[in-house]
Amino acid sequence: MLKINQSLLSFLLLLALAGMAVLSVYLTLPPQAQPADAPQDEFSATRAMAYVREVAKEPHAMGTPAHARVRAYLLQEMQKLGLNPQVQETTAVLEAGQVCYAGYVYNVLGRLKGNRPGKAVLLVAHYDSQPNTPGAGDDATGVAALLETARALRQGEQLQNDIIFLLTDGEEYGLLGARGFMQHPWAQEAGVVINVEARGNSGASASFEMSSENGWVVQEFAKAAPYPMAGSIMYEVYKKMPNSTDFTVFSDAGITGVNSAFVEGFVNYHSMTDTPENLNQNSLQHHGSNMLALAKHFGSIPLDNTKAPDRVFFNPVGKWLVQYPVGLNMLWGGIVTLLLVVVWAVGTKRKAFTGMRALAGALVYVLVLGVVAGLFLPINNLVTGAMPYFTESGTYNIYLFLGAYLLLGMGLFLLLYRLAQVWLKPLALAMGACLIWFVAFAVVMMSVPSAAYLFLFPLMFCLAGLLFVTKGRSFKTPGSVAYPLGLLVAALPALFMWTPVVQLLMIIFDLNMPVAMVSALAVLMGLLLPLLLYIEGGFRVRDLPVLPALLILAGAVLTMAAINAEKPGPGQPFKTQLSYYLNADTGEALWASGNSRHDNWTGSFFTKNSTKTALTSLYPHASLQYHITSAPQLPLQAPEAEVVQDSTAGNSRVVQVQLRSVRGAQHLELVLQPENAEDIKAIRLNGQLCTMQPLDTAEGAIYMLRLYGLPLSKEAILEVEATPGSKVGLLLYDQSIGLPQQLLPSPMPADVVPAQGRFSNLVVVRKKYEF
Ligand SMILES: [Zn+2]
Repeated sequence: MLKINQSLLSFLLLLALAGMAVLSVYLTLPPQAQPADAPQDEFSATRAMAYVREVAKEPHAMGTPAHARVRAYLLQEMQKLGLNPQVQETTAVLEAGQVCYAGYVYNVLGRLKGNRPGKAVLLVAHYDSQPNTPGAGDDATGVAALLETARALRQGEQLQNDIIFLLTDGEEYGLLGARGFMQHPWAQEAGVVINVEARGNSGASASFEMSSENGWVVQEFAKAAPYPMAGSIMYEVYKKMPNSTDFTVFSDAGITGVNSAFVEGFVNYHSMTDTPENLNQNSLQHHGSNMLALAKHFGSIPLDNTKAPDRVFFNPVGKWLVQYPVGLNMLWGGIVTLLLVVVWAVGTKRKAFTGMRALAGALVYVLVLGVVAGLFLPINNLVTGAMPYFTESGTYNIYLFLGAYLLLGMGLFLLLYRLAQVWLKPLALAMGACLIWFVAFAVVMMSVPSAAYLFLFPLMFCLAGLLFVTKGRSFKTPGSVAYPLGLLVAALPALFMWTPVVQLLMIIFDLNMPVAMVSALAVLMGLLLPLLLYIEGGFRVRDLPVLPALLILAGAVLTMAAINAEKPGPGQPFKTQLSYYLNADTGEALWASGNSRHDNWTGSFFTKNSTKTALTSLYPHASLQYHITSAPQLPLQAPEAEVVQDSTAGNSRVVQVQLRSVRGAQHLELVLQPENAEDIKAIRLNGQLCTMQPLDTAEGAIYMLRLYGLPLSKEAILEVEATPGSKVGLLLYDQSIGLPQQLLPSPMPADVVPAQGRFSNLVVVRKKYEF
């Protein structure tokens, strides 16, 4: 048998493993953006970028002038595309426990007629942005994908089904536009919905969410999408997460559909850096290529029976999508179980390991997993501690940190296993890891069968590899090439299926929870153990663990480089949370900041040892902690509440109050303070019923409401049904976006931007009323 130097072979194997890992991620990249002169009936991201540039010129949150400008632009473009657009204006309500969120929304919608009656295809993206971001990725990309799809569809033959193009408003303030659309007659006509979103500005457009009973939609999606990226594990995980997008509203209403998003570039999400220039146009191409193909496909088939039992679906390699009925898992599971038994029998018979030693190997695997993952808690605390500018909104150089943590994690893992080999042989350790993998597979199989594929196929192949090396004589002569090569081939499914998972976990959790990524890495390495231990052995010099040491050293150096690269600058600004508050009743004005650490500019507003307190002087229910300091009083006009009707009939008094932001703010906050909580029987905003639980505060029970995106008139009607003769206090706040420039000691520097979110970069004026 061919024998070569184990050191050289180990080096080559290491290169092969790394190369394969890189390839597995490379194959998941979004497709290349098509040029502006691409055929007219195809989707071109370059053409679609014109829409993105116009929509994402500036932040365009609900109620702002920019929002109105974007709406007018979209209406005009949809007109040009022959979609016969209309604007749906309505107040939509989201009830969430103790707060009622309402929004005045302007949905923009249009339609391409099909040539047969029947259900329609609903394409959705939201055109509003968060307040402190131009929103190129989120969700101008989605809007552009819809419009370029409409343009391309009009080049082809008329479809059978109508296609509805819905650009929702107020997604960022509680899916308000989508909720509002459910009041529109077209909502009843939707047979299938395709929603596109983003949680960053780069990466593949993954179809992470499908409606329930996904069997039909998964099969049609697999047929039609040119670049399908999906996984039933994402479907299962997302079902259990509190996150939501417009899609949630439609799928909760029973409409079948697919929700896709790209998630890389998390640091830019909802941030001022989510600009058209920073957008990865390939991500837009990915959104659009899939959307156009799906629109054509769903536009040409009946949409009456769109529910079928769940299927298993995933990408074994790159964008190749496999899907099959959940029941087939039983067959695969049987094969894996059989393989495990055979490997056990052969391994113990041929003395590759004993039963006890394999069990000890299982214990070692669990310990190493725990230690490596656990070590990253203090390691990560050290790293983020070394970056005073780090915030939980993520890092600009996430790939440097990913590389660094990968090297450190692999080094630590191999170092601990070097130690374990004092007692146990590689194959006992490998068999032990397979046992734990099998237990994990069995647990997932019983609890979430459609996610079991992630354990099933990697384990199946690695067991086959283990069988190959224990059955042959090769494990007794590890110098032979067959041993590591057999293991390398067996490792391929694990590598191709798990490396993108490891990468994705770092992208999603960033430095907020890198333990997730490290755990997945260690889980993967367990399956590759016999190969990894072989490679590690090849690097030993006088029995010293050279490879683990090199990996840890390289990881440490890269970590330093990443920390250094992360320093704020104009391209990667610090995000500061700062707002101005004025109590128009007392004249008290203050600056408040939720920053955990300040930059120099924001720091200059506050005293050195400023501690955080709640804004109780303004809000009876305040609990969020802020740095607070007094500010000069600005002559801002307070929001007005005027009783326009007050009538009592029987044992009910109905008060109608007109609310107005005189200074033209975008949003209102309302705190209703009845003498007793039961005095209030019903609350309506612009005619929509708002139900919520009262909240107990030091000042008694209150009811809380928020109205986002005041209509252009900047007026709204509050209606309260109360006990006759009772008094109700109203704390009325209006919120405008942007700091009072005249009060800033110096303009905000180029390397500082307002923090993302709805609670930053505001001017809030409060006034108390009673009726
Ligand atoms: Zn969004």
